[in-house]
Amino acid sequence: MTGATRLSWILLAGGLAVIACDRDKDSSAAQNTSVSASAPAIQPLNFPPDHGPLPSADGDRAMQYVKEIVKFGPRPLGSANHKKVEEYVASHLKGDQVEDDIFTADTPEGKFPVHNIIAKYPGTKDGIIIIASHYDTNYPLRNTSFVGANDGASSSGLLLELANHLRGKQREGYSVWLVWDDAEEAMKPDGSGGQPNEMPFSADSLYGITHLAEKWQADGTLKNVKAFILTDMIGDADLNVDRDTNSTPWLEDVVYEAAKRLGYQSHFFGIQREVSDDHLPFVKRGVPSSDLIDFTYGYNLAYWHTTEDTIDKLSPRSLQIVGGVVLETLRILDKMEPLPAK
Ligand SMILES: [Zn+2]
Repeated sequence: MTGATRLSWILLAGGLAVIACDRDKDSSAAQNTSVSASAPAIQPLNFPPDHGPLPSADGDRAMQYVKEIVKFGPRPLGSANHKKVEEYVASHLKGDQVEDDIFTADTPEGKFPVHNIIAKYPGTKDGIIIIASHYDTNYPLRNTSFVGANDGASSSGLLLELANHLRGKQREGYSVWLVWDDAEEAMKPDGSGGQPNEMPFSADSLYGITHLAEKWQADGTLKNVKAFILTDMIGDADLNVDRDTNSTPWLEDVVYEAAKRLGYQSHFFGIQREVSDDHLPFVKRGVPSSDLIDFTYGYNLAYWHTTEDTIDKLSPRSLQIVGGVVLETLRILDKMEPLPAK
């Protein structure tokens, strides 16, 4: 998670809305908006019938991947540990169709190699659903013990677990591409601490995923992407996935429907905020996108971008919940006819 977010409203169980706090310096406009966190998109969606066995992700196995990623230590851009994690992810994708997207990013801290890893699982339907997670750790914290257990590792481990569900079988649905994207974090302090040298995060972050969005726009792939689902900071034992107002409302509604079918809805969308994250390059290009992020991480965000972001804050249950919801979201999208365009 790079930095910019705007919390507008907390919705309580009875539908009572209260202003919680305002993290962003210029977010006064948000206070004039009141939207129910679980409000449906304007066009009522036609969900396919809810039958067949519900999917389930293995939270313990996902947690094992997260632990192994964390064990490498800090993995900022350009580091030896970063290289080890690239190799670790690739080693779990042997036999899968993998594309490496490697380029050099020109950042305020100099030029760095960036390595996006894409695993492709073909389906029978024409179209692609992307599920993404960044795996780098915060560069400004590179000389600390910051390991990003939740911020980077949790979702990257979860994607390895999702790969176990996708490989080796013919998908009766859209092709699914898992993307471990790189260089998500800002290279200069990201604006949360008010440091004098901070960069606007929009100019100094999301390097890897922006490169992919541009490349896929240029080669025509993007036209075929039906949905982009981002996972970020989803391992917190106290799981509260936000409803993000930068995401596409109908796709957020599909995610909520998936959570309801699994009985996990109490972990979703209690808080609504505007989140700037890896989905933005796809949002800007008109791809329906959903950012699954829990940006309530410790009291007053005490664990975010601090050395407190460690494995003991996470739980296999949270990985199981988000993994299940992503798999059920795929199952619903596969059967929705037609998918809304945007
Ligand atoms: Zn982060």
